[in-house]
Amino acid sequence: MLRNDQLEQWDRDNFFHPSTHLAEFARGELAQRVITGGTGCHIEDRDGNRMLDAFAGLYCVNVGYGRQDIAEAMAEQAKELAYYHAYVGHGTEASITLAKMILDRAPGHMSKVYFGLSGSDANETNIKLIWYYNNILGRPEKKKIISRWRGYHGSGLMTGSLTGLELFHKKFDLPLSQVIHTEAPYYFRRADLGQSEAQFVAHCVAELEALIAREGADTIAAFIGEPVLGTGGIVPPPEGYWAAIQEVLERHDILLVADEVVTGFGRLGTMFGSEHYGLKPDLITIAKGLTSAYAPLSGSIVSEKMWSVLEQGTDENGPIGHGWTYSAHPVGAAAGVANLKLLDELNLIQNAGEVGAYLNTQMGAALEAHPHVGEVRGEGMLCAVEFVKDKESRSFFDAGDKVGPRIAAALAGEGVIARAMPQGDILGFAPPFCLSREEADEVVAKTAKAVTAVL
Ligand code: PLP
Repeated sequence: MLRNDQLEQWDRDNFFHPSTHLAEFARGELAQRVITGGTGCHIEDRDGNRMLDAFAGLYCVNVGYGRQDIAEAMAEQAKELAYYHAYVGHGTEASITLAKMILDRAPGHMSKVYFGLSGSDANETNIKLIWYYNNILGRPEKKKIISRWRGYHGSGLMTGSLTGLELFHKKFDLPLSQVIHTEAPYYFRRADLGQSEAQFVAHCVAELEALIAREGADTIAAFIGEPVLGTGGIVPPPEGYWAAIQEVLERHDILLVADEVVTGFGRLGTMFGSEHYGLKPDLITIAKGLTSAYAPLSGSIVSEKMWSVLEQGTDENGPIGHGWTYSAHPVGAAAGVANLKLLDELNLIQNAGEVGAYLNTQMGAALEAHPHVGEVRGEGMLCAVEFVKDKESRSFFDAGDKVGPRIAAALAGEGVIARAMPQGDILGFAPPFCLSREEADEVVAKTAKAVTAVL
């Protein structure tokens, strides 16, 4: 085994870490943490620290760490056939089975699944399919995509553009011109409007209508949104938001993409967020929870309405010119099959709903009265605590105060991992679905301690 100092040196010399302050890392100001193992909701590092991972990696290890069933399914697949491509009609038993299992669980109007590797590439696929669809329908001008400020849809060129967070645009020359952003359904942050929740929903709808009127409905192809805003702050939508938005989209013949990378496969206590909020999307993006991150695998679930046009397009234009070498990778597909079976066998989605509700209630009870806690919110196994400088006026701390990161660091010192969300002082929780009530109690108690220590 390599010595710690050797590994740290190699890490600094060679490894370009994603989403990392490169200069701080180089100066040794960020903790270098080498993770060695994990079971259930816990991970361990090289120094022997055992941590309760209340963010499930990047809200993806939904079934928890150390699941031998999934590891063995992957190993067996790798021994038998590590790779074959899925082009021109090829498949494996694992990929064909997984496609069926996904469609069996998806809303009834969905028809096929296109496999990718990450949430970002699945959303790139979605946009290409939407453009192809409108070209086949003879409306080449209908191409713009509406996304929400605070939405997160990946960090590619198009998906980074769809993402509505400044950090992902700044100095990268994004967003691309085909993307337009609209108001986020973030009621807590719009106290300045002085509206009731119902009025705020009407405001979001009016903003969307105004945007469509300004741009022209015949230039707008689709609207993309996460059922619950995730990376933008873990923000469940206000009551009635999705029904009202969906009505506008239908009226203007604008497709709906439900980005369920976080919410898909159970995080809200239902199989899909679309089910939870009564959405009827034309495309559903899936990734993280599809394999619980045991292997990189994503997908675009395509509705029958779009599929029939895509099919017709290939008769007119030849094979669809879109493919990844690793699409439907057999080892990833085997992980997906084993993961979906495990979700069922262990009733993990039900647990996510029940223990998630418990976590949210307990977090609210422990923290809502704190003078610097503005809001505790969540849905299913998603929870967020948002900090304010002043509760009354709902003013926020300066980014330079690093309140969120400092609280996350204090909590890590207590042995619990939560995520300081990238924009605003928000502590996010998205534990594995196997979280027990006792573990939820531990998360809440230690969070309360960390908050009091910092604020
Ligand atoms: N969409 C949503 C809603 C996400 O939360 C993420 C990642 O967090 C993505 C897309 C991008 O997924 P990936 O990081 O696998 O590219």
